Amino acid sequence: MKAIKNKAGKIRKFTLTESEYMEHREEYGGLCVRCGYDQWGVEPDAEKYKCEECGSRAVYGTENLLMMGRVDIVDDGGADDDFTI
Ligand SMILES: [Zn+2]
Repeated sequence: MKAIKNKAGKIRKFTLTESEYMEHREEYGGLCVRCGYDQWGVEPDAEKYKCEECGSRAVYGTENLLMMGRVDIVDDGGADDDFTI
């Protein structure tokens, strides 16, 4: 997972590989838009949950971020051929 930041240092987008995305779906992953922390046990449609890392209410469900256009899924180079979306 990579966080893409703007010039002001704020996270604009996340890049997840297909396998990371599958893991997020299976394990209820969410992402903190403030610090980029992967948080688990978050509902897919979570909004403004408290981040265990930085304490900000900035954790969103990964599915939710995807719908908001803030997650890009990238090919992970075919290392995990079992995973197809
Ligand atoms: Zn955070």
